[in-house]
Amino acid sequence: MSETFNAIVAEEADGKSKASLKPISVGDLPDNDVLVDVEYSTLNYKDGLAVTGAGRICRSFPMVCGIDLAGTVAESGAAAFKPGDKVVVNGYGMSEAHWGGYSQKARVKSDWLVKLPSAFTTQEAMAIGTAGYTAMLCVLALEHNHVAPGSGEVLVTGAAGGVGSVAVALLAKLGHTVVASTGRPETHDYLSDLGAGGFIDRAELADEPKPIARERWVGAVDSVGSKTLANVLSQMAYGGCVAACGLAGGMDLPASVFPFILRGVTLAGIDSVMAPMDLRIEAWERLATDLPKGKLNAMTTVEPMSKVPELAAAILKGQTRGRVVIDVNA
Ligand code: NDP
Repeated sequence: MSETFNAIVAEEADGKSKASLKPISVGDLPDNDVLVDVEYSTLNYKDGLAVTGAGRICRSFPMVCGIDLAGTVAESGAAAFKPGDKVVVNGYGMSEAHWGGYSQKARVKSDWLVKLPSAFTTQEAMAIGTAGYTAMLCVLALEHNHVAPGSGEVLVTGAAGGVGSVAVALLAKLGHTVVASTGRPETHDYLSDLGAGGFIDRAELADEPKPIARERWVGAVDSVGSKTLANVLSQMAYGGCVAACGLAGGMDLPASVFPFILRGVTLAGIDSVMAPMDLRIEAWERLATDLPKGKLNAMTTVEPMSKVPELAAAILKGQTRGRVVIDVNA
């Protein structure tokens, strides 16, 4: 019998899915061309949905959860990768249609791999993880839509979460004046240290949205959706841009078209899962230059894989702060 190793595996019973720590073996892994010795994965909101079964993320069972991973190539059938290469995978349907990163070994498609920038260790890459790489995609979208440092205040919603924390640190490093929207006043010192220059209570953005409101933000990164995103849109300054990536507050969008047709506001949709490879590489290269390591360390905690079920429930309740790295070998 081949040697077993640990993974967080979702299984379905009575129409409900739930994940737990289980032993699996290399023979169980899917038939992809690169075998990776996984070192770290991370905890993202989507992982919370998949592991608890609160959202229908896994499309088949059994499913190894974990939407991202970083590790070392052990075997490769692709010329572009060789044993010993340090690699990162984000998204591509891992934990949805394909087995993911909460596993000590993973067999993945070479097309999904990004070579780890030399600036990062595998642990740092996962401190960034999908949430941080998504935050960078949001910042790139604001830049492509001409939101320039010094032009006014940029809002980050869900600021104390994973995407929000990295977005605050990146925008501040790039010279933007960052206002953080959070429901947790106890995170103000933490967010100030990351670079937030001001705060608003998230309750202010949870009221019934007006079709249009006083112009306030030149740019915004929104990980909350629903009324929050509708309120943010109504408050955008002329020509401003909102990068919308999340639904922590709900998947609806009760907004009007006024911000678009009266103020030329842009709503930039951000998808990390199927983002094209050139954009991924650009995002990781920019993270290497624009995300201060000290700030990354300040927003990161490292937890063993056995705690994933407990942490998955906590992230859905908005109880985790910043980035949670999962050490799959601890
Ligand atoms: P986190 O749970 O770490 O952060 C979400 C934050 O949103 C919380 O910390 C909290 O911030 C705020 N929040 C939570 N619940 C509510 C609520 N009911 N109303 C208003 N604010 C709320 O998650 P992540 O940062 O990992 O992900 C954030 C969102 O982005 C998720 O919806 C996730 O699915 C999405 N996402 C999308 C990606 C994409 O490719 N488009 C990739 C990665 C993430 P605070 O306490 O500061 O108020």
